[in-house]
Amino acid sequence: MTARILNGTELGQQIRAELRQQVEELKQAGVTPGLAAVLVGENPASRIYVRNKIRACEELGLYSERLTPPATTTTAELLALIDDLNRRPEIDGILVQLPLPAQVDTQRVLQAVDPAKDVDGFHPMNVGALVANRPALRPCTPAGVMELLARNGIALKGARAVVIGRSDIVGKPLALLLLHQHATVTVCHSRTRDLPGVAREADILVAAMGKTAFVTPDFVRPGATVIDVGINRLEDAATAEKLFARHPQRLEEFRKKGSALVGDVHPDVVEVAGALTPVPGGVGPLTIALLMANTVQAARQRRGAVSRVEAVH
Ligand code: NDP
Repeated sequence: MTARILNGTELGQQIRAELRQQVEELKQAGVTPGLAAVLVGENPASRIYVRNKIRACEELGLYSERLTPPATTTTAELLALIDDLNRRPEIDGILVQLPLPAQVDTQRVLQAVDPAKDVDGFHPMNVGALVANRPALRPCTPAGVMELLARNGIALKGARAVVIGRSDIVGKPLALLLLHQHATVTVCHSRTRDLPGVAREADILVAAMGKTAFVTPDFVRPGATVIDVGINRLEDAATAEKLFARHPQRLEEFRKKGSALVGDVHPDVVEVAGALTPVPGGVGPLTIALLMANTVQAARQRRGAVSRVEAVH
């Protein structure tokens, strides 16, 4: 059996095409949604993520701004910058690229973002709304996974879902979203006993750990849907030879480039799963598409409210 590949690149493009239409309509009404990305310091991965997010804004015709305070920035300086962005009417979305440098109090900074502009969905008010299943801005990666499941017709009601990883940005919010869609959810982490055994109960298995190819075929019930959130850079040739032993094309690509992006799911899982997200080209592109969707949503909600107030006066 070979798994159906759940293509996130195509789906991400489809979502962006839908958004483009909404952005056009908003622009005709005089509203250009705006996103500010705050990138502190020189972390190379963060720079690439922010570059891709800004590029996505440009492609959609959104206004975007990149703010790049130095790595030595203090919490107070960042709070002042966020305060400024909170006040600026043309900015609908604020994203603070994580991780922040060690001297910065990350929680204070995330709590300073106006919840109405919190397009990453990390503010405690949005987290609370998510727990209570009330409308709010949802974290992009978990929201992207839900879009991918829904648009591929994967039934959640009554299904057994196992999420490996309990981070605030992926595992926990995703477990809540699955629960709200009536899945029976188990959340696993580094202290879980018999992880492969628990994982094998899943109709839908999500790996969000940051551990290269950790989820091997023995974790997967034949026919299960497997969502690979992990993004890991593989540079070790011996590991690549082992991982891609049954995947000559991927081994060839690795040899050419000297590196490869791999998920938390072992490539051989494709032979057991019923459906599988690839890495790259699975969850990653959806994270950006959902960030764009959140920015458009924030613009609608904020500016909709503003124009109603203006109409009254
Ligand atoms: P974190 O490091 O914050 O969390 C990892 C989680 O995995 C923790 O809950 C940890 O458990 C659990 N874990 C680690 N090792 C094991 C193990 N051996 N057995 C069971 N559980 C384990 O990572 P994130 O949630 O931020 O990210 C996870 C992965 O997703 C990363 O590869 C990241 O790059 C990727 N990612 C991808 C995105 C995308 O757009 N596709 C977006 C965001 C992240 P414990 O809590 O006990 O320590």
